[in-house]
Amino acid sequence: MSKYFSKKYASLTPYTPGEQPKDTEYVKLNTNESPFAPPPSVVEAARAEGARSQLYSDPECSALVEKAAEIFGVKKTQVLPTNGSDEILHFAFMAFCDKDTPVVFPDITYGFYSVFAKLHSIPYKTIPLKADFSVDYRDYLHANATVVIANPNAPTGLCLPVWQIEEIVKANPDNIVVIDEAYVDFGGESCVSLVQKYDNLLVTQTFSKSRSLAGARLGLGFACESLIADLNAIKYSTNPYNVNRMTAAAGRAALCENAYFTGNCKIVCENRQATATALKELGFEVLDSKTNFLFVRSDKIGGRELYEKLKERGVLVRNFTGERIKDFNRVTIGTAEQMEIFLRKTKEILEEKANENSGDRS
Ligand SMILES: *Cc1c(COP(=O)(O)O)cnc(C)c1O
Repeated sequence: MSKYFSKKYASLTPYTPGEQPKDTEYVKLNTNESPFAPPPSVVEAARAEGARSQLYSDPECSALVEKAAEIFGVKKTQVLPTNGSDEILHFAFMAFCDKDTPVVFPDITYGFYSVFAKLHSIPYKTIPLKADFSVDYRDYLHANATVVIANPNAPTGLCLPVWQIEEIVKANPDNIVVIDEAYVDFGGESCVSLVQKYDNLLVTQTFSKSRSLAGARLGLGFACESLIADLNAIKYSTNPYNVNRMTAAAGRAALCENAYFTGNCKIVCENRQATATALKELGFEVLDSKTNFLFVRSDKIGGRELYEKLKERGVLVRNFTGERIKDFNRVTIGTAEQMEIFLRKTKEILEEKANENSGDRS
């Protein structure tokens, strides 16, 4: 830290993104990207707009917003595209939290929430997940704070039904409820339609997971008109051209390729099922995922050790450091071939470990 760095950020701990290795070709199951490339129409749309890059992008992303409104069944004034959904979440922390309006979220969830809170000196409270790692929606009724919930949650993969989300929204009429639906396309229930009914709900989605555009950076926020206007006030005070030309065009084209992405999600869900079954046969505890990853733990090997041994063998998964979750790994669901390699290496590691242990005893 230089002597010039603002004192207000002295205690900042930035978010740590998952590894994006440049050395070896890994079977990359650590950051929940799609294993499938975007379809040709999406690539072509981005290419065509790239040829007009001397011009600023449309700050309103009109074509994208129009398509999104049509697909999601909301008005154009109820949608806000952003540079990844991280940006809309960041806008929400700026717009709807401050020292008098704290924020609450689960103790085990997306790591960025606490980073945003600290960045803006927003007091925050975390609510422990239940022993089975689920969110108890009753913990968020009458919260007296902005509520942020990833549904399905990460890194657990567990999901709340929409009626419970609605109970939370209803019970917090004086506060905003933010529902982060980054993984909703893999078996969760979306609550986007509730934004028609409640003026205190913001729902965020991303193109990074189910829509194969992690590298393009595109997210969408859905809310009533006045909340979107608030978020726009933040956007136009920070970066009016937050979504670039290529990305806006790619996103619009992606919304026209619903069949392709739905098909991919179906494949991912099938691979998830097969991988979960195989892991359980190997003795793993596997949480019931409604996402494109599995959160898994074994009595036979520590979480960090399994992570490291998989990495030595060219398979990258994500290990966390939190006390309750350090023995878990989060494994992104890739293609059937990738999952086969992951399972084969995992089996090898467990066998090696069993041999070592019997060796110790002799
Ligand atoms: C991946 C992810 C996001 C944001 O991703 P972007 O790439 O910024 O759209 C948001 N929330 C959760 C829970 C995520 O896992």
